[in-house]
Amino acid sequence: MTAPVDGLGPPVGAEAPPPSGLSPDGREGSAGTAPTVGPASDFLRDLTEAGLLLETGVPGLYGRSARFEALIERIDEFVSRRTAEDGAERLRFPPALPRRELERSGYLEGFPHLAGTVHAFTGDERAHRALLADLEAGRDWTTRQRPTDVALLPAACYPVYPTLAARGPLPERGALVDVASWCFRHEPSREPTRLQFFRMREQVRIGEPEAVRAFRDDWLERGRRLIDELALPCTITTAHDPFFGRGGRMMAASQKEQGLKFELLVPILDGGGPTACLSFNWHRDRFGRTFGLRTARGEPAHSACVGIGLERLALALLRHHGLEPERWPRAVRALLGS
Ligand code: AMP
Ligand code: ZN
Repeated sequence: MTAPVDGLGPPVGAEAPPPSGLSPDGREGSAGTAPTVGPASDFLRDLTEAGLLLETGVPGLYGRSARFEALIERIDEFVSRRTAEDGAERLRFPPALPRRELERSGYLEGFPHLAGTVHAFTGDERAHRALLADLEAGRDWTTRQRPTDVALLPAACYPVYPTLAARGPLPERGALVDVASWCFRHEPSREPTRLQFFRMREQVRIGEPEAVRAFRDDWLERGRRLIDELALPCTITTAHDPFFGRGGRMMAASQKEQGLKFELLVPILDGGGPTACLSFNWHRDRFGRTFGLRTARGEPAHSACVGIGLERLALALLRHHGLEPERWPRAVRALLGS
């Protein structure tokens, strides 16, 4: 974990080094091993007892109550108000992408352990009988399914690059896109901040290198202001993604060294360090080259994205201001229109 770059000072626990092998927000850094689920955290118990999250029996997969959803909507609207003047093009995609695009994106090189694909049964009646027999006998019936053309979306911005590339070269000023979706990551955990399905709102800037870099730098400041307004403590640090395996350690080190990823961290859990609520990713021309996304001058476009984890922000607010939003500080309620 590196030095915070903001002037807020460290929140409780922010400076404590994460347990070995864990990245600042407590996930399994570059270890790339099978996910460990761990015991239910007290915070998860509080959230389910308060009826905010509903257990399904699968770690990281929860139902949301009306009160929790109202909170997510208000955070989303708050982000909309604070970004309205940027004039971003608003695009929405389903929580899935063509499997081909996931394969092209490089995601499977870095994160094979987090990816999910959709499988379906395509057999005949005989195969159906065999499937039911497997089910009946408690055998693995899923071997009777085949992969479809659909993969689950790992980050909201992924469909943006091929979509814009298909339009031809970017205009002179590049592009700014506001995108949001449910995302899937196979990282089952009993910490409510580490979900298998969660919502991510992103601002994506694509264009010339200087403009993209300026966008990223500007958002480091804007992100901090957003969190300040919500009266939450935070730090911003350089970070790395949880790349898989031994090769992944090198990718993580290089990503961190080049300052390609920053995270805005808020202390939410009792142990394991603060949690990344916003991420600032600078891809350089990686997606430009991968998806044939060109600037007006015909060069591979650069890109950067700012990802806001809506559930994590909701959990940060519930943690710091209490489980009853109607009793939150007046200023925060006014801001969120609650
Ligand atoms: P990342 O692409 O990993 O930088 O994620 C972007 C944002 O999504 C993070 O800053 C978090 O706010 C949120 N996020 C990532 N993983 C999870 C998860 N497993 N559960 C909930 N939110 C997540
Ligand atoms: Zn992104």
